[in-house]
Amino acid sequence: MEKKEVKTACEVCKALGVDSYLLNGAERNKIIVSTFYRVLKNKPLKVKLCTFHDIELFQLGESNFLKQNIEYALELRARFGKEL
Ligand SMILES: [Zn+2]
Repeated sequence: MEKKEVKTACEVCKALGVDSYLLNGAERNKIIVSTFYRVLKNKPLKVKLCTFHDIELFQLGESNFLKQNIEYALELRARFGKEL
């Protein structure tokens, strides 16, 4: 199936093919810069998340968040390769 192009600034929504506007609703559709501390070996990784995914990250913790959003984890792996 062809992936639908979505206009979203949330990196996770983008990787998942989710429209963050629909996911969050108009009022909560904000982008938050958050940080992964355990994804890269030597440095923190700043990521742009929507409110929904920022809360989900907070609730699940990094490793469970990446398991939950496996498409995003795969994209990070493709992007950073050996740094992971
Ligand atoms: Zn999102």
